[in-house]
Amino acid sequence: MSKLVQGYEVVIGFETHAQLSTTSKIFSRAPTAFGAEANTQACAVDMALPGTLPVMNIGAVERAIEFGLAINAHVAERSIFARKNYFYPDLPKGYQISQFEIPVVQGGEVSFFMEEGKETVRKTVRLERAHLEEDAGKSLHEDSSLGASIGDGRGQSGIDLNRAGTPLLEIVTQPDMRSSEEAVAYAKELHKIVTWIGICDGNMQEGSFRCDANVSVRKPGGPLGTRREIKNLNSFKFMQQAIDYEVRWQIDQIEDGHTIQQATVLFDPDTGETRAMRTKEDAADYRYFPDPDLPPLVIGRDWVERVKGEMAELPRVMAERLVRDYALPEYDATQLTQSKAVAAYFEATAKACGQAKLASNWIMGEVSRRLNASEMAIEQTPVSAAQLAALIGRISDNTISNNAARQVFEGLWNKEGPSGSGEGDVDVIIEAKGLKQMNDTGELEKIIDEVLAANPKNVEEFKAGNAKALNGLVGPIMKASKGKANPGQVNALLMKKLG
Ligand code: ADP
Ligand code: MG
Repeated sequence: MSKLVQGYEVVIGFETHAQLSTTSKIFSRAPTAFGAEANTQACAVDMALPGTLPVMNIGAVERAIEFGLAINAHVAERSIFARKNYFYPDLPKGYQISQFEIPVVQGGEVSFFMEEGKETVRKTVRLERAHLEEDAGKSLHEDSSLGASIGDGRGQSGIDLNRAGTPLLEIVTQPDMRSSEEAVAYAKELHKIVTWIGICDGNMQEGSFRCDANVSVRKPGGPLGTRREIKNLNSFKFMQQAIDYEVRWQIDQIEDGHTIQQATVLFDPDTGETRAMRTKEDAADYRYFPDPDLPPLVIGRDWVERVKGEMAELPRVMAERLVRDYALPEYDATQLTQSKAVAAYFEATAKACGQAKLASNWIMGEVSRRLNASEMAIEQTPVSAAQLAALIGRISDNTISNNAARQVFEGLWNKEGPSGSGEGDVDVIIEAKGLKQMNDTGELEKIIDEVLAANPKNVEEFKAGNAKALNGLVGPIMKASKGKANPGQVNALLMKKLG
């Protein structure tokens, strides 16, 4: 059952443009590096000079195959390039080479976990297709919000064709998502997949991974509503804000008796609003037809098999292995495979301490919290896997309590140990902070006897059958031991003494 907004069901489908990480363009040899001086990376093909012809970049095709394999899709043996005709100043050919009727990647799915209320549920979004296409150039407007500056300040516009012909994989989902949270979770998972397999650098600020969110609302069980497409969302935060705004806007329109017009809209992060850019074109408006300059793209099964053999372990395959090898819950395994670096950190920690579930808890808990708070990636963590493993070792051999372990972690994070690496630091910090658990029963028994004597009422209530009265005893005991008593041991001793 999906979450309703004011009685409406939200329906979302995504189109994502992932820039493929080839060094040269999809149909020419010009370089693709970001940020070069305008028009220094566009060759005759990219500028559409008469008489030039496109030549397929094998590297782009190979990346499309890798993507298809990663999401369990069908990689078409034969796909077709088509011309998508439209006029725009940054598109000198007057058409974009894309794929239309027969895309290279067909079907497939992306699945991920989401928190719904108190539960963690697995969601699966079906993909319709992923096709290869070329990017267009960029129009730069003087004094525009883009901040680009050209000319002499008289409000001119200019064209930069550096981006023209950059290879893109456009990844299209079915309208399967039912909330902005689910849409963002899908986008994050897709981002993880393309960066994990290395077909896209995932840099959202530079536009290497940009999402268009198609959003509509309907009464539950009714036919699909008319969609509006929010273009070029290049941060997960804006994605969520834009969809939430759009949903409210559409519901307000419908409630006010208006109908939704299919349109393309832009999100303005400054106002937090979406605003119509143009009414939506249909496929027919583009006069698609097969590009006579390019033969069909033929991909033999042997090529697919070779690519499969050369691909590194995929996130979902690795997650399955973590479940198998470390007896982890599926949820943990998925969280730990959010990036190769996190997975490697987990495996190093788990192997070193032999306590996979504890390692997982610490990495998904304390480690992630600290990294998020300081906006750091796991690669930058000041606490090495060896240190975390040593820390976990001291919890499981009862040297320190969980509470004390958090203080030790804090010490490791702040590099309070002598070396800043290596196992020795954990014990040094435990010693320096006096965090060792009291494992001497004699000493603990003395404290317990004192607390029992000072709290006769609790003792009486407990003996009369009120189990909760025990809390009133454990608290003061832990306090008197300065937090060093082992809670398990305290409980055992209390039970013995209270019969
Ligand atoms: P176009 O390029 O015209 O936008 P595509 O087929 O490439 O068409 O993409 C359409 C996208 O819109 C897909 O992601 C699809 O799932 C989604 N979609 C289609 N109908 C709806 C709808 N009623 N509400 C929300 N999303 C929709
Ligand atoms: Mg679209």
